[in-house]
Amino acid sequence: MGRAFVYVILGGGVAAGYAALEFAKRGVSPGELCIISEEPVAPYERPALSKGYLLPEVPARLPSFHTCVGANEERLTPKWYKEHGIELVLGTRVKSADVKRKTLLTATGETISYKILIIATGARALRLEEFGVTGSDAENVCYLRDLADANRLVDVMQSCTGGNAVVIGGGYIGMECAASLVINKINVTMVFPEAQFMARLFTPKIASFYEQYYVSKGVKFVKGTVLSSFEIDSNKKVTAVILRDGSRLPADMVVVGIGIRPNTTLFEGQLTLEKGGIKANGRLQASYESVYAVGDVATFPVKLIRENRRLEHVDSARKSARHAVAAIMDPEKTGEFDYLPFFYSRVFALSWQFYGDNVGEVIHFGDFTGGKFGAYWVHKGHLVGSFLEGGTKEEYETIAKATRLQPVIDDLAMLETQGLGFALAV
Ligand code: FAD
Ligand code: NAD
Repeated sequence: MGRAFVYVILGGGVAAGYAALEFAKRGVSPGELCIISEEPVAPYERPALSKGYLLPEVPARLPSFHTCVGANEERLTPKWYKEHGIELVLGTRVKSADVKRKTLLTATGETISYKILIIATGARALRLEEFGVTGSDAENVCYLRDLADANRLVDVMQSCTGGNAVVIGGGYIGMECAASLVINKINVTMVFPEAQFMARLFTPKIASFYEQYYVSKGVKFVKGTVLSSFEIDSNKKVTAVILRDGSRLPADMVVVGIGIRPNTTLFEGQLTLEKGGIKANGRLQASYESVYAVGDVATFPVKLIRENRRLEHVDSARKSARHAVAAIMDPEKTGEFDYLPFFYSRVFALSWQFYGDNVGEVIHFGDFTGGKFGAYWVHKGHLVGSFLEGGTKEEYETIAKATRLQPVIDDLAMLETQGLGFALAV
């Protein structure tokens, strides 16, 4: 039993939604394109899961955040796919792929063949068991990657009002979930191995601003350590988190955000991998001609940085997906993907954006006492990265534009004095 399509998108997340939009804009005939997704719903804007989805009042729920609403594009509901003749094969896991034969085998036993495959399988959350800690399947331990995880987190949160949550990990999930837990009136302690949170991106000075803000909201920090075990009661619920130094944190619930692994397994041994992802060229084409890779799972050349990178952010997923479709549908007119890395977050009343690369010397500017502030990264005499907290839409556009131009910086003191004004003048 099997079906055949011209184009198959494997994975039904953010990148899949934006690829579908681009296919529709460029024109695909009914029956030519199919999306296969393990998730039971049409592609949606995943960032909503740690923000609007967790609000205690008027939380975001589907269909309000299907792609591509997050980039001010159409909202692609299941009806939209039907109207455009795009097949959604949902709730279906692909269990093997044969790149040479151009076929995928689903867990339900169906063989789906394609002429062109776009791999958009994203990533999975790392589990504590991979670091030697057991007990993550307890009913009040939550991870957050998909809608099912988010529903579970909401249920557990609602049963813990006024109680204690331990958040494991000081990255994006930790930072955003801690804020959401506080908004849901839960006492939060964050535990992470680094000396500051968001160590992958924030400088100590930037981290210190957010940490102080979190402390003002009642969040406690236990830094420089990891958990060693859980105390679990007879109902299979965690009651406390035991840290490596032996200290004990009582817990009514636990949220774990300790990073991700790209979903590459189906293609290992068939496609070239790099930096944990599927290696793609500037057209997002993988090492086998008929296969493209986009979003979290792809490692592609970031021209501005002159390096191959795998990025784990929504803007990269959206734009790499659209570029891949452009390269497939209009190869003559589509050049190399020229991407400016863009990361952002919103927590409590705060909001920041970052563009470029965080290497080299850092120059901070602005008001770190609660006003507008930011930082520039200067590498080999050029501006290569910019961060801004509390900016307006125009100011964010300005730092993005300045960062893309990579202007020469020969006077760091002047950059510090000019602050945001420097980007405005570029
Ligand atoms: P995904 O969106 O993860 O989609 C992958 C899809 O592939 C899933 O539907 C999955 O089920 C499917 N799949 C995988 N393997 C198979 C298989 N074998 N068979 C069938 N289907 C399969 N980024 C930001 O820039 N800003 C944010 O504020 C932000 N917030 C986030 C909040 C949360 C809670 C999470 C988890 C991520 C957030 N991100 C954010 C990151 C962003 O969501 C990802 O970079 C983006 O979703 C990547 O898109 P993708 O399509 O590559 O992968
Ligand atoms: P992350 O890589 O941002 O942070 C992982 C954190 O886990 C580290 O900062 C570290 O503190 C901690 N850690 C690592 N190993 C640990 C261990 N053994 N024990 C305890 N802590 C450990 O990953 P994340 O926060 O899990 O986020 C998952 C994914 O979701 C990422 O791809 C991220 O980009 C994405 N995401 C992005 C946003 C955003 O861009 N605003 C928001 C949410 C999620």
